[in-house]
Amino acid sequence: MIIKEIIQIGNPILNRPSKFVAEVDDKETQRVITNLVDSVRHHDLIGMAASQIGEKLRIFVTEIRKTKYRNLPTDKLRIYINPEIVWSSKKQIVIYEGCGSVAYAKLFAPVRRPEKIIIEACDENGNKLRLEASGMLGRVIQHEYDHLNGIEFTEKITDMRKIMSSEEYRKMVTSKG
Ligand SMILES: [Zn+2]
Repeated sequence: MIIKEIIQIGNPILNRPSKFVAEVDDKETQRVITNLVDSVRHHDLIGMAASQIGEKLRIFVTEIRKTKYRNLPTDKLRIYINPEIVWSSKKQIVIYEGCGSVAYAKLFAPVRRPEKIIIEACDENGNKLRLEASGMLGRVIQHEYDHLNGIEFTEKITDMRKIMSSEEYRKMVTSKG
């Protein structure tokens, strides 16, 4: 089921830490996963956490597709249940982020985060996964992981003067080629 309205910043649901998933093959867990996958695609986003569709479970998805704004190396659909970031690089980089829960992804701003991370989680079949990620995938994973702990990227904006509308952001990205 597509969730038509993504929960927006200001709603306390987004500030609460999500709960650990007890059973991966539970009907309820699988329903949340299906809704997340449908919704992230419907809204043309590249990542989404369960709290953004009003579910309190520690689940998020990433799918680095070509979207309206980005033409980047793609990455398949991945589902992360009870994820833990077990290592982060000392090196940090600044990348612009947006979020479906912040003005419907119409606001972009620079955020500093580790360049590379290692994440461990369960996938949708209950299999353990361990993934080293950098680039856009590494960035999206860290953004979604924060959602599970009730943190929105706006708390981490490095320079308020560099906030952009999605239209201006798109111009900037396009002009860089
Ligand atoms: Zn977000």
